[in-house]
This record gives sequence, C-alpha cells and structure tokens, in this order.
Amino acid sequence: MAVSLDWLGCATFRLCVDDLTLYLDAYVDRVPGAPPVGISVDDIDVADYVLVGHSHFDHIAGAEVIAANTGATVIGSTESARVMRDEGVPELQLWQTQGGEHFRLSDSVTVRTYPSLHSCIWTGGAGAPGEVVTGQYCLTEDERWPADDTRDFPGMMAAVSEAHRVEHGRPAVGSNIHGGAIAYVIETPYGSIFYHDTSGCWTRVVSDLRPDVAIVAMAGRPNVDGEPLQGSLANFVGRMAGFLRPREMFLGHHDNWMPPSTQDMTTDEMMAPVREELARVEPRSTLVEVGYLEGTRLFA
Ligand SMILES: [Zn+2]
Repeated sequence: MAVSLDWLGCATFRLCVDDLTLYLDAYVDRVPGAPPVGISVDDIDVADYVLVGHSHFDHIAGAEVIAANTGATVIGSTESARVMRDEGVPELQLWQTQGGEHFRLSDSVTVRTYPSLHSCIWTGGAGAPGEVVTGQYCLTEDERWPADDTRDFPGMMAAVSEAHRVEHGRPAVGSNIHGGAIAYVIETPYGSIFYHDTSGCWTRVVSDLRPDVAIVAMAGRPNVDGEPLQGSLANFVGRMAGFLRPREMFLGHHDNWMPPSTQDMTTDEMMAPVREELARVEPRSTLVEVGYLEGTRLFA
C-alpha cells in the first residue's frame, strides 16, 4: 500500500492512493509575490480526479488545465461545474455535488460529499492564529453587506485574475460567489481522509464523521453554523479536531498565498497557539506540519 499527501500551497493538496491520483483543489500557480510551491499546474500530467472545495479562484483555478491535460474528472458544486464548463471542460468530466453524494473513484476508493460553509468573507479575519476576534454575531445579510459598503470584491478578483494572466499566461478562473462549499471524506482501504478548503462547518454534519486523517482550513473568520466564530483560528482548529477526532491533522490555507493581504501562518511563532489549543482540547490528534511537496506517507 502507498498513500501519500503533498501540500501544494493555499488549500491545494495531491493525494495518491496506490495508483490513483487525486488533487484536492487545483490552485498551484499563484499571484506574483506568493512563494512558489515548486511545480506549475502545467507540470501536472497525471491526475484522475480534482475535488474542488468551492469555486473561488484560489481553489478552482487550474482545475481546467488539469482536466484538459490529464482527462481528470472535476468534482465540485454546480457553480464549480459552471466555471469549468465555461472554460471548455467537457460535461463527461464534470461530476456535480451539493453534499450527500457518494462517488466511486476506483475499485477500492470512494468519496462522500457533505455540505459545508465558507468562512465569513463579509467580516475581517485575524492576522494570526492566536488572535481572538469577536462580535459581528447574529447579523442579517443587509447588515453584513451594507448599502454604503466600499469593498469591491469583483474588482479585486478581476485585478487578481489580470495579475495571473500577466504571470502565468492565463487568467485565474473562478467565481465571485462561493459556489457551495463542499467537504469531502475520501474512503480508502487503508483509512479515510476529511478535506475542506475554507474555515467553516455545520457542526451537526461534521460531528458524526470519524476520519483517520483531517485536512482543515485555517484562514479568515471561521464560520460555524452560519455565524462567525467568537474566538481565534486556533480555537477553530481545536473545535474541528474535537468534532472529527482524527488521528492526524493537517492544515491548509495558512501560507502566504496572496501577499500583501495574507501572511505566513506556518512559522513556529504563528503555530504555537494552534499546537497549544490542540494539545488542550484533542490531545489524541497529532498535528502534522508540512511544507510544500514533502510527500507525507499516510496510514504508515
Ligand atoms: Zn473562498
């Protein structure tokens, strides 16, 4: 048996189960200034499936290239499928999910999908995992997005996409809406792996899952059951560990994926509160901290 996991920056991972190759998100080619992850999406010539967590560019961009170069099937929300369809990915290579599907990926590997939640992009997140952020609780959408709001997300996305085009020769495809955050549990003969790519969850959904390994996103203002978490990103990671009780836990989305609006949260100093919180709330879960392309063996 051979199961290996490679982090490719942001919330993108490559998971190889024997001879099956899965990409979890596809965002490998990044904005100028973000540390390179060691490969370009054009280098990827083997992939069977791309599991897209949601349809923002920093997750889905590149899936259209992998699909074209490898014939991989892209699994994601209906909005993710729309983005891929607009990029010319054939319908036969698109499997749509809203959470609740159970797809067969090979003779021995399947994936279950679950409805998830995007982090609260309508309010600011912490700049460090140990920073406690409170408030913004119980607001309605008109209060979350006031009429005099000067934030311009479509403009920001367009600027990012143009920077990608200049740097990589193609725009960063994606959607300005979340496109349905999906969580996945990949079931292999050797163990199961939970994956989501943005800091949110429905607690009643994740509480009954018992994956052996969990990949949890640590970025922005976490969204728990539709409300912003009153606490820190470290608290969110601890809560996810408490719900899922994985033997091993990996983090995603916590590198410096879009400077200057992001920072590197993988450093010892940044990670210290996360390690402390995990040791306190779920000491049975081991936090595995990896760099890009380290090829970590799972279930060894
Ligand atoms: Zn997003």
